[in-house]
Amino acid sequence: MTILIVGGGIGGLCTAIALARNGISSHILEQADSFSEAGAGIQIGPNGMRILLDWGMEEHLNGRGALPRCVHIHDGLSGASLNKVPLGETAQQRYGAPYKVFHRSELQMALLNKARAMPNIEISTAFQVSEFDERKNNIPVTSSLGEKHSGRLLIGADGLWSRTRKYLFPNIEPRFIGKTAWRTLASHSDVPEPFNQCETGLWMAPNAHLVHYPVLGGEIINVVAVVEDSYNHQGWSHEGRAQDLFPHYENWHDVPRGFLKARTNWQKWALFDIKPLRSWSVGRVCLLGDAAHPAIPFLAQGGVMAMEDAHILAQLLDLYGEDHRTAFAQYQSQRRPRATYVMKTAKKLGKIYHMKGFMRQARNGVITRKKPEKMLSDYDWLYGFDIS
Ligand SMILES: Cc1cc2nc3c(=O)[nH]c(=O)nc-3n(C[C@H](O)[C@H](O)[C@H](O)COP(=O)(O)OP(=O)(O)OC[C@H]3O[C@@H](n4cnc5c(N)ncnc54)[C@H](O)[C@@H]3O)c2cc1C
Repeated sequence: MTILIVGGGIGGLCTAIALARNGISSHILEQADSFSEAGAGIQIGPNGMRILLDWGMEEHLNGRGALPRCVHIHDGLSGASLNKVPLGETAQQRYGAPYKVFHRSELQMALLNKARAMPNIEISTAFQVSEFDERKNNIPVTSSLGEKHSGRLLIGADGLWSRTRKYLFPNIEPRFIGKTAWRTLASHSDVPEPFNQCETGLWMAPNAHLVHYPVLGGEIINVVAVVEDSYNHQGWSHEGRAQDLFPHYENWHDVPRGFLKARTNWQKWALFDIKPLRSWSVGRVCLLGDAAHPAIPFLAQGGVMAMEDAHILAQLLDLYGEDHRTAFAQYQSQRRPRATYVMKTAKKLGKIYHMKGFMRQARNGVITRKKPEKMLSDYDWLYGFDIS
C-alpha cells in the first residue's frame, strides 16, 4: 500500500523520490493548484548536493544554479570586507559535492522532473488535506473539498504552518522571532560590484543584515534583507513597501545602502520558529522538514535538512518494512538531535549578525583574524555529514 505525503514542497518531493529509490510507492497531496515557487533563491550546501547527486539528479540539475566562489563577509556599517569563506572548488574537494545556489523554481523543477520520471510516485494537486484518522491501519485522508485518499502511512511535509503537526500536537504554535525577511531579484547587468560577483555576499550590522547571490546561471541576483521588525503575519509573498525597509539601512555604508535603494520591488515574510518537538510521530503519521523543525534561514539549511530527513526516513522504512514504529523511532533518534542543533545554531547566528557596539567590533576582529580555510572547516559537522 502506498504512503501518503502531505505537501509537495522540497520535503514532500524529496521524500517521494527517496521512497521510490527504495521501491516504496507514494502519493503526494499538494494543496496548490499547480507547482510554482516563490521568486526567491535557495542555497544548497554540499550536504544537500551530495544527496541530490546520489539520487541521480545530475541530469535534472545540469545547467541549473550557480557555484559561488566564496561567502564574502562584510561589515554593513563600515563597508569593510572581513573575510571570504572559500566555496567553489575548495568545498567540492573538501566535501565531495559542490555548494550551489538556485532560483527556487529551478530546484523545484529538477525535483518535479525527477519525481515524474519515477514509476511509483503519484502526484495530486489542488488537494488541501483537511482531516485524517491516524488510528486506522489504512489512514483515510479528506481534502477541504471532500475528496478522499488513503494510505498505510502518512508523512506530513506541509511546512511551517503544518496542518498535520497541528492535528497531532494542537498546542504547538509557530512563534514570531521578531525579524522579517525582504526579498527582491535584480538583473546582473544592473548591479555594481561586489553585488555582481559570483559569490554569496553577507553584510552584517546592528538590527539588520543583507545576503545576495546569483541565481539562474548568474543572470539574476537574489537579494534578501533581514530586519528586526514587528510585522508578524503568515505568508511568503506580501508586498513590502521600500519606504518601510530603507530606514533600517539608513546608517549603512554608501555601497550596500545605494544598492538596496536602487531596488524598488520587495516582498516580505515574517520569520517564525517553534519550540523543538519532543516527538515527530504519532501512530502511523510522522513529520518531516519544516513541519517537524521549521528553519530560521540564517544557516541556509532548512531545505537541506528536509533532504536529509527524506533520505534517512526512506532508508529506515525500507529496512523495517511493515514495522513502521521502529522506523519512525529510529528516524526521530537519528534526525532530531541534528535538526534541533541546526535550528539553534541558525538562531545564534541571527544574533551574531546583528551585534552592536563592542560586541560588533569583537565579532569583526574574530572573523578578520580567522584563516579562510578555518572559517569553512568550522562547518565540517554540517557540510561533511555522512548520511549513507
Ligand atoms: C528567507 C528564507 C531563506 C531560506 N533560505 C534557505 C536556503 O538558502 N537553503 C535552505 O536549505 N533552506 C532555506 N530556507 C528554508 C527552506 O525554504 C525551508 O526549510 C523549506 O522550504 C522547507 O521545505 P518543506 O517541504 O518542509 O516545506 P515547504 O517548502 O513550506 O512546503 C510545504 C508544502 O506543503 C503544502 N501544504 C501545506 N499545507 C497543506 C495541506 N493542508 N494540504 C496539502 N498541502 C499542503 C504547501 O503548499 C507547500 O507546497 C529559507 C527559508 C526562508 C524563510
